[in-house]
Amino acid sequence: MMMEKRINSYLIRKENCYGCMACYNICPSGAIDIVEDEEGFIFPGIDRKKCTNCGMCYRICPSLNREDFDRSDRIEEQKGYIAQNTDTNIRIMSTSGGIFGALAMWCIWQGGVVFGALLDDKQSVVHSFAETVKDCEKFRGSKYVQSNVGKSYELVKNFLQQDRYVLFSGTPCQIAGLFSFLGREYDKLLTVDVVCRGILSPGVFRNYLEFQRQSLKKTITRVQFREKRWGYKYTAMTIYSDRKCIYARGPESDGLLRAFFENIYNRSTCYHCQYREQNRKSDLTLWDCFNVNLYNKKMDDDKGTNKVLAHSIKGKKVIEELAQKNIISLYEVPVTKLISENTESMYEDLPLTNTEKRIRFFYDYARKTPIDLWRKYYPDSLKVKMKRLTRKFLIMIGIYQIARRIKNGHAVVKGK
Ligand SMILES: Cc1cc2nc3c(=O)[nH]c(=O)nc-3n(C[C@H](O)[C@H](O)[C@H](O)COP(=O)(O)OP(=O)(O)OC[C@H]3O[C@@H](n4cnc5c(N)ncnc54)[C@H](O)[C@@H]3O)c2cc1C
Ligand code: SF4
Ligand code: SF4
Ligand code: SF4
Repeated sequence: MMMEKRINSYLIRKENCYGCMACYNICPSGAIDIVEDEEGFIFPGIDRKKCTNCGMCYRICPSLNREDFDRSDRIEEQKGYIAQNTDTNIRIMSTSGGIFGALAMWCIWQGGVVFGALLDDKQSVVHSFAETVKDCEKFRGSKYVQSNVGKSYELVKNFLQQDRYVLFSGTPCQIAGLFSFLGREYDKLLTVDVVCRGILSPGVFRNYLEFQRQSLKKTITRVQFREKRWGYKYTAMTIYSDRKCIYARGPESDGLLRAFFENIYNRSTCYHCQYREQNRKSDLTLWDCFNVNLYNKKMDDDKGTNKVLAHSIKGKKVIEELAQKNIISLYEVPVTKLISENTESMYEDLPLTNTEKRIRFFYDYARKTPIDLWRKYYPDSLKVKMKRLTRKFLIMIGIYQIARRIKNGHAVVKGK
């Protein structure tokens, strides 16, 4: 998948390319390869020797063709909920309230296939599919790194043509890529996206893992971006070697999480994303609900809660069916209230505020060793250590949630 292939050019201007890979899936000549740029982001590269100029890639590219088809089963008024998986173990293992796990279960019960993002054996984030409830566990948890969808859209189409149910989950730009590729609706397709603040590059993630491997002097076998060992409101990046946890740090300390929440190193399209909006093509949108007490005090147990927005009749039906069967607890909330806390990720552009730091970081990314890079940009300074100790102390004496609420004034809620 890397640069050494005979890549003669990118398909469209890099700053407008989402990396959704709809073009890669549609190309009948195998002329498109997935390549990484100097910042480690993935792009489709064309091998001009193989390209027959059929134009199919340009016709389906969602960045070039904003309008594809309208979905017929939109609900007039979106429905908003807060929700939790009734299985506490699933909830604790998931990033938010484990609603994706419940939807995956629903799809498997219909004899369907579930697509999602996972960390493979080499700790690369890729899309794959599962056909059993157990196998769907591999998709659990948010990875704040762009997933390589590979040929997933083609596989989705094959399963739909076999008349099977398909649940596809991904970022909003990947849902756009899927619909552009399919070019039509399918009754048995259920799509779920997330409220998405942006995405880091696979290259930066590899570099971070190499830094951790060298610092910890251990083989890394599992990584979790938001483990709930200190509760839902203070999640941690954790690293495992075999079954042993060898590293756990919160978002004030861990370099990759700090980089992600600084909002400086995202893919360029994340700063002018046309899919970050309230009305979406997906059936359901999932995101975090940190201030559960604002909606339903009984649900506030610090184990994780989702906000859910249903855009289609199908999405609403499935989510309400899961509640009727007691797979999830569901609490309806007016949509305006539901989205008012997360406007910045739901539909506002998050501006790139420190261009200079981004340029310096990527300059050093190409030149410095991983250890030098991460220690330079995200050192474990005294200030960071103090923040970490304060948070842990507040957790220990049981008032972290209250302190957070006071600090936030119930207002801005970020994914940390
Ligand atoms: C890149 C990213 C950015 C996010 N930004 C925000 C935010 O700013 N604010 C907010 O409130 N919530 C955000 N979320 C959503 C939140 O973190 C949870 O993913 C969501 O609430 C679902 O939680 P869950 O417990 O139901 O599912 P989980 O069991 O946690 O499942 C996660 C689901 O997300 C998919 N997924 C995970 N990583 C990726 C990836 N890299 N690319 C594509 N799909 C992926 C998996 O396929 C799976 O379906 C983001 C998620 C991602 C992946
Ligand atoms: S123009 Fe046709 S052959 Fe060439 S890269 Fe695009 S889809 Fe492939
Ligand atoms: S289809 Fe997606 S990956 Fe291909 S050029 Fe367009 S935006 Fe980029
Ligand atoms: S912010 Fe937009 S472009 Fe960036 S990953 Fe999310 S949906 Fe895609």
